[in-house]
Amino acid sequence: MTFESAAPTMLSEEDRAKEIASLKAGKTVEMANLIDESETSLAEDFVLPGGETAQEEASIEVMAEQADEFTCASCFMVRHRTLLAREDNGQKFCSECEG
Ligand SMILES: [Zn+2]
Repeated sequence: MTFESAAPTMLSEEDRAKEIASLKAGKTVEMANLIDESETSLAEDFVLPGGETAQEEASIEVMAEQADEFTCASCFMVRHRTLLAREDNGQKFCSECEG
């Protein structure tokens, strides 16, 4: 068994920089190719038949007022009841509007 292949090669700073630069350049090209390929396949896979309408309906329900929340009569934001600052004739105002 010899250690010839593992022997450290003495490179000048300039040679070292060139080697690193060429390595980086090679990696960049490789990465660009990978990205191109994955983007193409993603674009092909992205079209889902009939899946979009159901998602839109679900996102509207998230905005619904909960039992421990109220809608501010001034800014019309749904606030948590801990932010209720004033109630006047059934109209509720949040602490941000009353603050
Ligand atoms: Zn408000």
